[in-house]
Amino acid sequence: MNQVTVTLPDGSQRTLPSGSPVRDVAEGISPRLAQAALAAVVDDKLVDLTYPLQRDASVRIVTDKSPEALPLYRHSTAHLLAAAVTNLFPGVQCGVGPAIDEGFYYDFVVPRPFVPEDLEAIEQKMKELASQDLPYERQMWPRDEAKSFFAKRGEPLKVQLIEEKTEGQKEVSCYTIKDKETFIDFCVGPHVPSTGKLKAFKLLTTSNAYWKGDARNQPMQRVYGTAFLSEKDLKAHLTQVEEAKKRDHRKLGRELGLFTFHQWAPGAAFWQDKGTTLYNTLANYMRGVLLPNGYVEVKTPLIFNKALWETSGHWAHYRQNMFQVQGSEGEEMAIKAMNCPGHYLLYGSTVHSYKELPIRFHEQTPLHRNELAGVLSGLTRVRQFAQDDGHCFVMQEQIGDEVERLLKLVQRVYTDLGMTYQPKLGTRPPEFLGEIEKWNQAEAQLKAALDRAGMEYQLNDGDGAFYGPKIDFDVTDAIGRKWQCATIQLDYQMPERFDLKYVGADNAEHRVVVIHRAIFGSFERFIAILIEHYAGAFPLWLAPVQATILPIADRHLQYAAFVRDQLQAAELRVELDDRQEKINYKIREAQLQKIPYMLVVGDREVENSTVSVRERSGGDKGASSIDTFVAAAHDEIARKGQVPVTT
Ligand SMILES: [Zn+2]
Ligand SMILES: [Zn+2]
Repeated sequence: MNQVTVTLPDGSQRTLPSGSPVRDVAEGISPRLAQAALAAVVDDKLVDLTYPLQRDASVRIVTDKSPEALPLYRHSTAHLLAAAVTNLFPGVQCGVGPAIDEGFYYDFVVPRPFVPEDLEAIEQKMKELASQDLPYERQMWPRDEAKSFFAKRGEPLKVQLIEEKTEGQKEVSCYTIKDKETFIDFCVGPHVPSTGKLKAFKLLTTSNAYWKGDARNQPMQRVYGTAFLSEKDLKAHLTQVEEAKKRDHRKLGRELGLFTFHQWAPGAAFWQDKGTTLYNTLANYMRGVLLPNGYVEVKTPLIFNKALWETSGHWAHYRQNMFQVQGSEGEEMAIKAMNCPGHYLLYGSTVHSYKELPIRFHEQTPLHRNELAGVLSGLTRVRQFAQDDGHCFVMQEQIGDEVERLLKLVQRVYTDLGMTYQPKLGTRPPEFLGEIEKWNQAEAQLKAALDRAGMEYQLNDGDGAFYGPKIDFDVTDAIGRKWQCATIQLDYQMPERFDLKYVGADNAEHRVVVIHRAIFGSFERFIAILIEHYAGAFPLWLAPVQATILPIADRHLQYAAFVRDQLQAAELRVELDDRQEKINYKIREAQLQKIPYMLVVGDREVENSTVSVRERSGGDKGASSIDTFVAAAHDEIARKGQVPVTT
């Protein structure tokens, strides 16, 4: 019999009969490993434990300690969900069921929307199927047979998936749980070996969905769930989800009067006065960070002729994401979805000497992306937004210094916001543009800059864009969620396409290097993150209303107005609550509005020219002169993120 040789991660080798399932490799190492095995990586490909070894290969056994385990678990749990649903609701049609960042989902065509009681019943059924430890079996079906099987079962969506995903294949993989009567699904796999491996899962919500996320397609019901490798991890996550619900920026945005939406402008926020104050505070803060650091603020057009988008390549690859409009002469135009091409035209509009470099453009004008209606969500996925966008035009040898300067800005901004961050360096991918030497130089400069800035970073080899290496930042919020915000991306391609150059000391023309950079990213999405990070209780420097003055009775109104004028003259954002309500009611409302300070004025305060200071957390700081309060507030504003935030 033919033999195959497998190489294990430690370099040791084993020989097995050709065609042996990869599970046998685990068995050969130890029965304990075989017990813990979930899947395997054979020559960099994640496969089922039943995968037959036909030729020599490198093999790594995947257990719950492996990075592949969690998505594998979650996708396998999605199948378990589909099995439970098809068992409980005969006749439903299955769509797709991928693992996602926080868990998994599965889309179904159902005669009526799911209700919460359905979810309970489905989860119960899933637990039952899990306790029976039923095998996930991979079966290879002739493609036509699989298509007609699913067509006969009334599952045209599966037929469509088979057609799209397996073109040119003779056979397609279908997975059963137990047997094909219990559950069968077309899927490329892989999955855990049996349902008994799945122990910590929970169904969360249902929502409306459309086949392929497109509202013109078949309406579906999406069931969201999550799964973890242990009960403990699942509990921790569910606590986080509960906390996230309380902090949901859509809910808080409404309660705090920050923004609203209207169906006639999907994905475009109406910023109410308080939201506009918050937005402008952040926009001006960013100006205050960038302008003294060598940036100039510019404004470029919102609508460009398609010739620009053809030059940038967006017309060919990104057109469907842009709003297209027609000029008065019938010319085809598109509303900008990013600032980069406008900045290239602006840079290219004059001749630049090496002495001027780096040139740093910053722009905050609105951008539009024609997102599908089905994916729009609060401020995190919108059609209209603005960025703290910037492009630095540098010489190749300036990359390191420029990136170091940028890293310091990122550091400063996130410290001011009291958020931690983790840089990730993405290096040259297998397919790339430009000269390899320049890539190597640039990557060395990026690494050196990260070291000089004292930043520990995660190296994601091959994760750079095809046009240049990049540094992305994951920001961790107050409840431990990670968000990708800041980015620094080198670009060797666009300077070629737009013929961007400078005149060097040698009097000859040279290519510039473009650095795309943003620290917040989109203001809209970043504000959503901040609302949830602070649970709406903004630190003083960001709070739309920093203090509210609460007169106890009408006879204190005149003094209250005097206090308001003093604070406004000191550039504090204040409100005067002159309604004829009980003081305790006013205090409670101010607390719900998460206003940092409440200044109560009554007989004693009028007499002594003071205010009684209360914090939104309920703390009573006692009487203070107006000047003392102003000085303390100014100090707190200046210290930004160094002040612990009370909610
Ligand atoms: Zn699957
Ligand atoms: Zn850009």
